[in-house]
Amino acid sequence: MAVLEYFIEGLRLLAVLAISFSLLEALCPLNKQHRIRSNLKVDLGHGLVNSFVLYFPLMLALAPPILLSQTIIPASFNLLVSSQPGWLQFLEMMFVADLGIYIGHRLVHTVPFLWKFHSIHHSAKELDWAISYRNHTVDLFVMRWCMLSMLLMIPFDTSVLSIYFIYFALHSAFLHSNTRIHFGPLRFLYASPWFHRWHHSDHPEARDKNFVVHFPWIDALFGTLYLPKEPPKTLGIDEPIAENLLEQWTYPFRR
Ligand SMILES: [Zn+2]
Ligand SMILES: [Zn+2]
Repeated sequence: MAVLEYFIEGLRLLAVLAISFSLLEALCPLNKQHRIRSNLKVDLGHGLVNSFVLYFPLMLALAPPILLSQTIIPASFNLLVSSQPGWLQFLEMMFVADLGIYIGHRLVHTVPFLWKFHSIHHSAKELDWAISYRNHTVDLFVMRWCMLSMLLMIPFDTSVLSIYFIYFALHSAFLHSNTRIHFGPLRFLYASPWFHRWHHSDHPEARDKNFVVHFPWIDALFGTLYLPKEPPKTLGIDEPIAENLLEQWTYPFRR
């Protein structure tokens, strides 16, 4: 039942993302040539595969850190976290999630075996909201485990956590959207589509930069921030990867 609800929620979220971000990209596109998408099927295909195969392995792999946290975290800490207002817990979730994502994302960029899987996400030559779904299952497993194990070890309010997860999906689509939004001088405070666009660029100086999804200053603290005033001209990686779901899913195993 929980799986069915999770699946239906996923479909609802997809409908919201498709409508809102197609509208946003139509209103303020960065690349006007990239209005008619040919690879939408591939990206949403990855989303569909992942929603089927990732749920149980991820739940199973998250059990050890959750059980560990229940035995080592004192009750006074639980009380301290749960007594905070929801908005403060939400801010803390963004920070904690960013730390987990930073670790996971840097891992998949620097460990050659993991990069084979993450390179599928970077194979896109153009960005739009649907690229947030283009993730190989192995890549998504590593990234989600790092993020969720950090988040679920802290006894946050589950209703605030549910809202955060919806926000996270919206924000991921926003970061990949083909829009002119960049937040100007505030771009170092909070991540914009241009911040993540530089992460996807093929410029050598931007390689392995901008790993977080919320707070660019965390990247700055670790020395991995690259955020000029202008967006990058070209995106993607050198290796050509076919725009085909089966080809992309099997690509890391064939290399
Ligand atoms: Zn990456
Ligand atoms: Zn991305």
